[in-house]
Amino acid sequence: MSSSLPFLPFALPDIGEEEIAEVVDTLRSGWLTTGPKAKRFECDFAVFLGDESLHCIAVNSATAGLHLALEAIGIGPGDEVITTTHTFTATAEVVRYLGADVKLVDIDPATLNIDARAIEAAIGPRTKAILPVHYAGLAADMPAILALARQHGLKVVEDAAHALPTTIGGQLVGTLASDATVFSFYANKTITTGEGGMLVTRDAALAARARVMRLHGMSRDAFDRFTATAPSWYYEIVAPGFKYNLTDMAAALGLHQLKKARVFQQRRAALAALYDAALAGLPVTLPSQPRPGDLHAWHLYVLRLADGAGIDRDTFIDRLFAAGVGCSVHYIPLHLHPYWRERYALDAAMFPHSQQAYERMLSLPLYTRMTDADVQRVVDAVRAALA
Ligand SMILES: *Cc1c(COP(=O)(O)O)cnc(C)c1O
Repeated sequence: MSSSLPFLPFALPDIGEEEIAEVVDTLRSGWLTTGPKAKRFECDFAVFLGDESLHCIAVNSATAGLHLALEAIGIGPGDEVITTTHTFTATAEVVRYLGADVKLVDIDPATLNIDARAIEAAIGPRTKAILPVHYAGLAADMPAILALARQHGLKVVEDAAHALPTTIGGQLVGTLASDATVFSFYANKTITTGEGGMLVTRDAALAARARVMRLHGMSRDAFDRFTATAPSWYYEIVAPGFKYNLTDMAAALGLHQLKKARVFQQRRAALAALYDAALAGLPVTLPSQPRPGDLHAWHLYVLRLADGAGIDRDTFIDRLFAAGVGCSVHYIPLHLHPYWRERYALDAAMFPHSQQAYERMLSLPLYTRMTDADVQRVVDAVRAALA
């Protein structure tokens, strides 16, 4: 009886003895906040992406990283940034931090990623940037998005909170021709530091600005221009910056999580393939696959109930919970939340694909600590809920 089994959570972090030992080492070292381990994590991240010329800037959340990236590209009052309605609010809220406006657009119903044609239709005189999300870990249509950006002179900042590691055309997200890419290491993401993120850019000026704004707008560069021997206590405040640095305690986790990122992705892909095989033929729409040869990070495994399912999504989720299986919904689209709906006078009819997906979708448990038997248990619960 599945009901006699312990509850299967929706998500769980995968923390090994290596991570624990590294955190303990940090605690004993006397250096808790941003220091040698955060620096090493940044260097290792560039190596992981396969391009040591990339600037990697460790921050205490992806939200912070997105805020810093948009600030560094000069987003401000009067500007508009285009993003998807089908995301977490963090993607869009950072635009509002800067006094700029958000232009939400609909998704491609096949991939659930931002629709490049909808972006094109939304570009106006105030548009300054495009902020795509690699939904669930499947790359957005970056060739089309980057082409639009070039054509209209727009910046591109990628929300890669789900996308480590994800490739498109064989290239890792983080190494594409966008202005900046931001990863999340929140507890349920594909690698975790508890809370944390990484801002990645090829642009040295953007990186320099983000580094200064990451820590109170503090700079030593002004002094260093005149002498190589700035006293260790000297700094200058060049802007009202933020407090977005990553601690060495968190970076200690990241050092080992990053080493496992490839193996984690393989396990997630294997679990997703088990779901795909076991759920084929049921009245559900399975997640979109990456193009042949490309990596999907499989942060989420999102099902949609098909017309013949004979059950509504909320009842379906209730039945899974009753069977001891945790699940979730990604996302309640932004156009349904009071703040976004009221600020921009939005309604569901403006986003038919996102709305339809939302009404039918749920995310099944998908994490590296799941066993094949756990997958079977979820599949049994899905079959029973649909029967
Ligand atoms: C998790 C998430 C974020 C925010 O990440 P934090 O590290 O928690 O700030 C942003 N965008 C998306 C799509 C996310 O899923």
